[in-house]
Amino acid sequence: MSKIQRRRDLCGTGILHQKNINKNGERYKKNRQEDETYVLNYTGSSARKMMRAGVMTIPVVVHVVHKQPIENISDAQIYSQIEILNKDFRKLNSDAINIPDIWKSVAADTRIEFKLACIDPNGDKTNGITRTATNIDEFLIDTTPNVEEIKSTALGGKDPWDTIRYLNLWVCNLGTSLLGYAQFPAGDPQTDGVACNHWVFGNTGSAVSPQSPFGTRFNLGRTATHEVGHYLDCYHIWGDEWMEDSCSLDDNVADTPNQKLDSSGVPTFPSFEQSCDDTGPNGTMFMNYMDYTDDVGMYMFTVGQAARMHATLNGPRASLLQSPVICYNDEKSITEAMHLSSKVYDGVNKIVPVEEKISYV
Ligand SMILES: [Zn+2]
Repeated sequence: MSKIQRRRDLCGTGILHQKNINKNGERYKKNRQEDETYVLNYTGSSARKMMRAGVMTIPVVVHVVHKQPIENISDAQIYSQIEILNKDFRKLNSDAINIPDIWKSVAADTRIEFKLACIDPNGDKTNGITRTATNIDEFLIDTTPNVEEIKSTALGGKDPWDTIRYLNLWVCNLGTSLLGYAQFPAGDPQTDGVACNHWVFGNTGSAVSPQSPFGTRFNLGRTATHEVGHYLDCYHIWGDEWMEDSCSLDDNVADTPNQKLDSSGVPTFPSFEQSCDDTGPNGTMFMNYMDYTDDVGMYMFTVGQAARMHATLNGPRASLLQSPVICYNDEKSITEAMHLSSKVYDGVNKIVPVEEKISYV
């Protein structure tokens, strides 16, 4: 029971997944199945050929929702998180040197980068950060049946910006046990994005405050790396059927060793604590971002996980890359953004005009 409690507490992605099932039932399950089929086809035998070329940049908007002053995190704390995302996803993180030799060849530069948007949904210039005062002490995932409070202005949070053009990243007080949560692709557009506890966002400000209920375990910004991994369709490394304790479940990635359950703390390599019969002689890959290891102990994605991300950016989340809301000090990109026709994933591997998108009403 303690393990299940721990798993539920740290990352809420499974809870949100279940909410989407409860809310949209067969449609959501069908969308997820079709999405998984698409991803597995994409990452299959010709994965190398099918990997997207070049560097892909995802536009980000950070919504800060605050009650206490410490929750109104500084721009510097936000910038620190964007920088961490860029380092981790490009394998430029300084602790990548700790990757065991045996896995150096499968450690991935995903070629995905993140940039704060410079154009808001109205076509006006922005710094990619919104700030909203609230009366809510702690934002929970499952107190409301449909839209989570943090994602709704009417409920005391902040409405998302067009989720097909922006990665929406909410930062707020998620309490003293939940680090963050993400929505997988092909879910409700109204609730799409990532929420992070401000105590674990970036590596400065409240993330390193002595008041942090998480101490120093999660103060290197790896929560957002993990949650954006989910947002780009990576599962937990032990395989998700969220409440199962089993080696029969997989993360559908070939180059991560099979793993029983989540790791915790900072294991020493090689670690066999969560091994299965077929895990192999090197133990589990507890240093993978999609495990539950403390921030200081996780420092890699694999090529197989990167392939899933590329599939996602080629399919259900392709619209993010067709979204010129990022400024490169270039007036042309601003002009183009004004004339962008929105496209969205239709749940069956196609990008269609937004007017034709699936209605979740
Ligand atoms: Zn997770």
